[in-house]
Parts: sequence; C-alpha cells; structure tokens
Amino acid sequence: MKRIAIVVAMLAASCTTTAPSAPDVKLYTLDCGGFEMKNAGMFSPNHEFDGKPAKLSNPCFLIRHPAGDLMWDAGIPPAMASAPGVDLPIKTFRPKTIPQQLTELSLTPADIEFFALSHSHYDHVGEANLFAGSTWLVDSAEREWMFRPDARKAQAFATYKDLEAAKTERLETGLPFDVFGDGSVVMYPAHGHTPGHRVLLVKLPKSGPILIAGDMWHLAEAQTLRTVPGGNTDKPETLRSMDKVEALQKETGAKLIRQHVPVDVDTLPKFPAALD
Ligand SMILES: [Zn+2]
Repeated sequence: MKRIAIVVAMLAASCTTTAPSAPDVKLYTLDCGGFEMKNAGMFSPNHEFDGKPAKLSNPCFLIRHPAGDLMWDAGIPPAMASAPGVDLPIKTFRPKTIPQQLTELSLTPADIEFFALSHSHYDHVGEANLFAGSTWLVDSAEREWMFRPDARKAQAFATYKDLEAAKTERLETGLPFDVFGDGSVVMYPAHGHTPGHRVLLVKLPKSGPILIAGDMWHLAEAQTLRTVPGGNTDKPETLRSMDKVEALQKETGAKLIRQHVPVDVDTLPKFPAALD
C-alpha cells in the first residue's frame, strides 16, 4: 500500500512538472502546380534575373489539427495548365486538382473547416471557390483588396468570387492570428507583396516549427539580394516584412519553406505522406 502511495505521489509530481504535450498537428504538401520560365526578369526591376531561366514550385498545404483542418492556398487555376509539348516563355503546370489529391485522404473540400490564403494572386486562388463552405480566415486589408472594383474585373476574380459570401473571420491587419488558440498554427502579417500578405507558422510535434513563407521570396537568390518584384503593392513594407519573417524564423528556429522555391518544397514529404 505504501509503495502504491509513493508511485501515485511520483506520478502526480511528474504530471505537474511536465509541460502540456504539443497538439497532434500534421502538415501535408499538395502539388498545386508550378512554372518553368525562360526569363525570371519579372522578379526584380533591378535586372538581376534578366534572361535567367527559373523553375517555380506552387504547393498548397493541408494542416490537420485535432480541432479542425486548415487549407492554406488554392493553387494555379487547373484550366491554366499549358498544353503539353508547346514551347512557351512561361510553361504552367497543374497536374492534379485539390479534390483529386484530397481523395487520397478520404476527404473532400466540404470536410475542411478553415481556409486561408498567403495572398490573393491568381496562382494562389485557383480553386478557392471550392472552400466557400469553410470558415475563411483573411486579413482585412487583403479581403478589401480582393473585392475592390478593379479586382472584380480581373480574370482571377471568378476563381475566388464565392468567398465573398463565405463565413469569414476578418483578421486585424498587422496582427498575428492564432488559428486554434494554442500557438500551434499562427498566421503572421508579412504585408507588402499584397496589402494583406501573410506567412504561416506551424509547430509540429516531432519535426518542430515550419515557416511557410508565401511569396515573401519567389527565388532563393531573391532573399540574399533582397529584391522586390515591381508588381508588389508596397516596396518599403515588403522590405520590413522580409526582416520580420527572418527574425521570426530565427526566434522560433523554424525551417523556412519559400513556396515558389523547389529546393525548399522538395524537402517536404510527397503527398499523401505528411510531416508530423
Ligand atoms: Zn504573389
């Protein structure tokens, strides 16, 4: 009896001193297309990339958390895939749709509780309408920009227009948003590429923190050179965001995944395998 009491006391002591275990979060990387371009000059107005070819990855991510699933980005519109064998300045790939890939996990878009975008450029919103039944987590400034009169006339509008009526959580511009309230999945502001561009920090129980960096840098060299594409909505803000994202990476020790950089994305398990 005495021995049992001691064991119970030891267990109680260990329970009070052990930190709560990290939630069982998994990260899946979906193939949401890619690009092969003959001239990457568009990524800097200072001509560093003029005439240089580039390959760009374009993943989407599914984060499975005990409290719900989050889809991050919705890829290139499947209809924009280039015809095979045609010689083009920019070849666009989109081999599998999101629903085709989710089937491998016995899921459909209707099963996904939360939807979020790094930002609303056409190569990130291609299948966004499929998630109009999810709760849309969107930076207030990005939402305003997506539904401004000019945006409604753009070609990409049709691919995300249904989000306008989605159940929406408007995130305060400039502030981080903790998706599940436990610090495991947080959307950080990194504005400047677009008004409400965000990056995503995912803390995995075994692999540790992963920082999914949206379009902060399109090419690995762009990070070293600190180049800002001419199409960004705010250059000084982009440069400040670069500093903030790098500081966040340092502070958390996160592995950085620049979404358009194949050497980063290729380090992640191939779907349907997950990183946990
Ligand atoms: Zn972009």
